[in-house]
Amino acid sequence: MQTNFTPEQLTDPHVAESEAILRKCVHCGFCTATCPTYVTLGNELDSPRGRIYLIKDMLENGRPADAEVTTHIDRCLSCLACTTTCPSGVDYMHLIDHARAHIENTYKRPLMDRLIRNVLAAVLPYPGRFRLALQLARLGRPLKAAFRRVPALKPFAAMLDLAPRSIPAPSLFAKPGRHAAQAEQRGRVAILTGCAQPVLDPGINEATIRLLTRLGVEVVAPQGEVCCGSLVHHMGREEQALAAARANVDVWIREIETGGLDAIIITASGCGTTIKDYGHMLRLDPAYAEKAARVSALAKDITEYLASLDLPSHMPRGITVAYHSACSMQHGQKITMAPKLLLKTAGFTVRDPAEGHLCCGSAGTYNIMQPEISAELKARKVRNLEATKADVIATGNIGCITQIAMGTGIPILHTVELLDWAYGGDMPAKLKGLEPAAALM
Ligand code: SF4
Ligand code: SF4
Repeated sequence: MQTNFTPEQLTDPHVAESEAILRKCVHCGFCTATCPTYVTLGNELDSPRGRIYLIKDMLENGRPADAEVTTHIDRCLSCLACTTTCPSGVDYMHLIDHARAHIENTYKRPLMDRLIRNVLAAVLPYPGRFRLALQLARLGRPLKAAFRRVPALKPFAAMLDLAPRSIPAPSLFAKPGRHAAQAEQRGRVAILTGCAQPVLDPGINEATIRLLTRLGVEVVAPQGEVCCGSLVHHMGREEQALAAARANVDVWIREIETGGLDAIIITASGCGTTIKDYGHMLRLDPAYAEKAARVSALAKDITEYLASLDLPSHMPRGITVAYHSACSMQHGQKITMAPKLLLKTAGFTVRDPAEGHLCCGSAGTYNIMQPEISAELKARKVRNLEATKADVIATGNIGCITQIAMGTGIPILHTVELLDWAYGGDMPAKLKGLEPAAALM
C-alpha cells in the first residue's frame, strides 16, 4: 500500500513503525474472511482491511481520532486472526496498538464510556479490588434488567452477567513464595500469578504448580509481580501498560540474576501474548529495552514448557476433549499443536471444533464493552463446541473459560488442569459429575 507520510511525521518512531506495517498491505482482502467482526457484521469498515484504511487515513493526515474511527477500532477484538491469514505478513497487532493509543490520546469519549473504562482499568488488574468488585456485583444483580434497557449502561449489565455467583476462596498458591521440586530437580521457573485468573479460578495455578513440582521443576512466584498490563494495553493506556511491564521486568530480572530461571510460565494466553511483546513495548526505553527482551525470550505458555519435558504416554481413557484454541494462543503466540499433543499423550481423545479460528467473543474486556457482538460470537462458538459431542472442553485462557462457560453445560477447564489430573493430581472439581466410566482411574 502506498503511503504519504511526511519526513517530519516519520521522525516519530511509532508513526514510522506503522508506516512500515501499512506498506506491506496489498489490499487483497484475504483477512476479511477470517475476521470475526466482518463475519458477524458484514461491514468492510469492521474488517482488518477496512480498519487499516481508517488508521492510515487518520495517521497520515495527523488527525485526532473521531467517533467513526473509534467505533470501528473499538469493535476489533485484537484476536489477530487476520495476522494468521495475511499472506503479506502485515503486523496488524502493532498497528492496532498504535491506533488505540492514538485514540486514547486524541479522542474524548462520551462520559459513560470514559467512566466504564476508568472503572475497568482501576479494578481488573488488581486482584484485591477485583474480588471486592465481584462481591459487590451480587448486590447489583437485581439492577441488571434496568441497565440492559439503557444503551450506555449495557456494559454494566454485561459485567453483572460475567460475575460468578460464588467466588472461590483465595488460594495460598496465589501468594509469593517458592514451591520446591518433588522429584529430582530438572528445572526452575517463575510463574505469573496474574490478576483476574487467581480470583476467578485459583485451581489453574494450583494445578500448574502441583504438576510442575511433581515433574521435578521448582516454581517461584516472586514478590512484586503485577498484572501483565494487557487489559490496559488493549484500552490504549500505554503509560499504565508500560509501568506494569517495567515492574514485572524488574521482578523477573532480579529472579534471573539471583536464582536463575529456565522460563517464565504463563497460564493465561492473553497475558502470554503481551509478555512475549514486552521487548517490543519497551524497545524505546534504553533502561529497559535489553532487560525486557530477555524477559520476553523466557516467557512460555505452560503447554509450551510442558511440551519440552517429554511427558510419558498414557493409554486412551475414554474421555473426549474439545480443544478450544484461544486467539491469543493460536494467533497471538502461534501455539497450535502443543496443547493438543499433550492432551493426546495424556490419554484424552481430542476433537477440533469447526471454525476454530474464530474468537469466542471474550477478548479481555470486549465482552463488557461490546456485549452484543460478543454474545453472537459466544453463541457461534458454543454451537461449534457442542457439535463435537465432547465430554469436556479444554482451553488455555481464563477469559475464554468464563465466556464459554456462560453458554454451555459442558464442563470447561484449563488444559493444565486435565494434565495435572492425568499425571497424578486429583480429579478437577468441575469434572466430579462425569460418568465414572469416563473417569481417569
Ligand atoms: S484482530 Fe480480529 S477482529 Fe480485529 S481486525 Fe483482525 S481478525 Fe478482525
Ligand atoms: S490479508 Fe494482509 S495484505 Fe491482504 S488486505 Fe488483509 S492485511 Fe492487507
